[in-house]
Formats: sequence, C-alpha cells, structure tokens
Amino acid sequence: MEQLPLWGSTTPTSARDSIPLLSKSRFIAGLQCHKRLYYECYHHDLRDPLDLTTRALFETGARVGIVARGLFGGGVRIPGDTPPDEAARTTAAALEQQATKAIYEAAFHHGNVRIRVDILAPVGDGSWDLIEVKSSAGYKEDYLTDVGIQLYVVEGAGVPVRRACILHVNNQYVYEGGPYVLDQLFTLRDVTEQAREVRPLLLSQLEAMRAPLWGSHPPPIPVGPHCKRPYTCPFYTRCHLDGPEYPLEHLPRMNPKLFRALRDADIEDIRDIPEDFPLLTDLHRRIRACVITGSVHSDPELKRALDALRPPVHFLDFETCNPALPLFVGTKPFQQVPFQWSDHVLRPDGSLEHREYLHTEPTDPRRDVAASLIKALGDEGPIVVYSGFEERIIRLLAEDVEEWREDLLAIVESRMVDLLELIRSHYYHPSFRGSFSIKEVLPALIDDLDYEDLEIREGGQAAVAFVQMIDEETPVDRRMELRHALRAYCRRDTEAMVRLFHKLREAE
Ligand code: SF4
Repeated sequence: MEQLPLWGSTTPTSARDSIPLLSKSRFIAGLQCHKRLYYECYHHDLRDPLDLTTRALFETGARVGIVARGLFGGGVRIPGDTPPDEAARTTAAALEQQATKAIYEAAFHHGNVRIRVDILAPVGDGSWDLIEVKSSAGYKEDYLTDVGIQLYVVEGAGVPVRRACILHVNNQYVYEGGPYVLDQLFTLRDVTEQAREVRPLLLSQLEAMRAPLWGSHPPPIPVGPHCKRPYTCPFYTRCHLDGPEYPLEHLPRMNPKLFRALRDADIEDIRDIPEDFPLLTDLHRRIRACVITGSVHSDPELKRALDALRPPVHFLDFETCNPALPLFVGTKPFQQVPFQWSDHVLRPDGSLEHREYLHTEPTDPRRDVAASLIKALGDEGPIVVYSGFEERIIRLLAEDVEEWREDLLAIVESRMVDLLELIRSHYYHPSFRGSFSIKEVLPALIDDLDYEDLEIREGGQAAVAFVQMIDEETPVDRRMELRHALRAYCRRDTEAMVRLFHKLREAE
C-alpha cells in the first residue's frame, strides 16, 4: 500500500509514521463512517466479496461513462491503470499541450486528496468544465460531495474551472434504434455554485477523517442504520460478526428517532427492548415477542386467506431487465422490460403443472412475453405472486402492448394475491431476521429447497445474464448455459412459492 508522509507531522502518541493519501472513493467511504475509511486504508482484505449484481452495476457505470465521452468526442484518455503520479503528470502535459481537447479520467492531487475527473472539457478561453458522469436517472444530493471534492482538488491544482456539472442519464429519452442521440440520452446539470458552497463542510469532514487514520486500531464506531446508507458498507459482515444475536437492524423500517432512543438506552439486542418502549410499530412488537419466546407468530387469518384460494392456483414470477442504456426500440433508460416468466399451476386434483417463457432472441421481448403469459394464465384462478412487482410489470406491459391491453388489465383487476403481504401481515418466524424477502423466508420454513445449487440466485444477476445471453458476441456455449441458468432460477422462485403456500396452510 502506498504510504506518504501526509497530513502534517505525526503526534508523539501516533502509532504510524504516515497515513495514506485519500482518493475520492476513500473520502466518500469516510463520509459514511470513519471506521469504514480505516478498513479501506489498512484492511482492504476484510471487504465482503463483490456480488454479481453490484459488479454489474459498476460495469454499467463504466459503460455509461464511455458512451458519455461521445458528447465531448476526440478527447485524450488517461488510462485508469496508470500509476497515480504518472497519471497526474500525463494529465498536466495534456492540459498544456492539448488545451482544445477533452481529457477523460484526468488525474489530480491537492490537499492530500487524489482524484480522477470523468471528463474535463475545454471551454475555449483557457478554463475547463468539470463533468462527473452518473449512470443514474437523475440528480441526488449525495452527488454534491462527490463533485465538491473534485472541484476543490482541481482548482487547488491550479486549473481554472468555469463550471462543475453532473451528467446523468435522461430517463425520458426514447430509443429509436441505431446510435444513441447523446444530447437527448444525457442531461447536464450545472452544480458549480452548490459545489463551492459545500467546500467548507467538506474540508472540515476531511480534517475529521484524519485523526483515526493515525491510530493502530479502527475507531470504535458501533453498527447502525448508517451501515446501509447510502449503500451497504463493504465491511458489513466484518462489523456484524460479534454483534448481538438479534440486532436492532432486524426491526424493519425503523426510523432514526427510534434507533437513537434505543441506542441512548444502551439497547443492542431486540430481546432487551422493554415491551412498552415508545415508537415501536405493531410489527416491531410482534418481532420482539417472537425472538424472546423463540416461537412463531401465525395469525389464523393467513390460513383463512390461503384456504379461500380455489384451484387452479397460479404461482407467477417475472424476470426483467432495466438497462441504463436502452436495448430495444421504443424503450427508455431504466425501463423495466420483462423477458421471462414462470408459472406453476396447482390443479383441483392437487397435481402441479409448470409453464414458462424465456425470450432468447436479441429482439424486444414484450409482445411475446405478453402473448405467452395470457395464454398460460387463461381466465380463471387466483395468481399468487411475491410482492407487488408482478402486478406493476403486467400494468406496464398493458401500456406497451396495445393488442393485449384488455386481457392484461383483466388479469390484474381481480386475480392477483400477494403472498408477501399476507406473510408480512399475519406471520413471523424468528429466523426471518427482520426480512420478508423470499430468500430469508424460504430457508426458515422449508429445509430442503434453496438457491444454493443455482448459478443465478437473485434478480439482478438474472438481468445481467439475460443481456449476456442475447448478446451475439457471447460464445454459443455460454449462451446455452445462461438459458439453462435463467430457466432454473425463475422456476425455483415459483416452486418456492408453492412450497410456502402449502407450508403456511398447515400453520396453526
Ligand atoms: S459496517 Fe457500519 S460500522 Fe462497520 S465500517 Fe461499515 S459503516 Fe462503519
């Protein structure tokens, strides 16, 4: 690890001779939590492995960044793997010699912070526009610190900046095929004034991050809601290893006021919460009672609601993708496009039938998904889903596929049954760990069915797999593997619902 003698001189009590230079990502880590920054600097190996969905998000961000450069074409790129000092020297040379060209990933350091700027665009009068590219659909307050720290470093390095801007994806852009129309695909937002206004705050935050880095141990910061805000911390598992058996995070939708009140009362385990503690919701009280007694809460209403479902009972699940860069004509950035469904049907004689559809061609899947779905669901029997997602997708399909609109709307008008809502309202098992996600609920209730044997284990992964599967550059063998993996995953979701349905009907 690079160690530079920075941040002024060490104190006599300091455990270190130097501390690392902060990069922008480390600074952002420090804003979430000083302990996270400490780990990023000294114990990077303790990070949780990057899951495939997060990796796909990073890849999307990189692709959007590359496409965005087209708005400032013909620029000079400082390769991302160039060592920091060399990157800064190359950037300085590009600023001098090619002041009429944009610089991509321009490298600077100042005030003990090292950054890369996505795009530095020449204005023509010797000044530059600093552009941070975001692969999101809009502007978020969090982006200001990101741009603010870059503006501080770039100006500190002596480069005149006319504007500091966020370039984000415009989710109203409708893709018409062929190359993207870049000035419609992206929206540029000038945040110069706000980025300058936050500078004093950023500098004081930088200063506050400094002291813990001199220590030989991470700062003693307890876990809390900040571990998942604005993102799940990469050291989440590490910090929660020695935590209580039933941590406060297992209380769903806990507002910060309640969390502070519990912390102020030195309560870390749900079992230690007094019964009459204020601000607890009914669900919190139910969870508290279940973990104290180690017993299941099962309201008879759940069994009544499930018994009332008359066969044929459908169990339906969709897989969708919502790419930042639209793939199909007529779609917008981030639009949910269903490409697969699975339907298990429980017949009056107790037998189970399975039907499915997976779109395997690099064409718009919506029409084929709608037509196959309507045929499979017919016009009778309740349709059990897990969350309101499937209903939303059917309504979106109804907007997009006119010829099947009436049939699709008829499905959602009267037949949908949300198993997740039924469980959330009427059932709790201490092993749910505060989550009603099917990935938590299934192992708590069914011990011989899980997702461990599957290549694809979550929806984000399925979306990535679909895009790879229809990409003609993916080797044919791999495309076939992905087909198989997608079918297995979507089928498992509906199979899981069937098993939960039977199990919960038995519940006392
Ligand atoms: S898990 Fe929480 S306490 Fe631990 S480093 Fe991350 S944010 Fe900080």
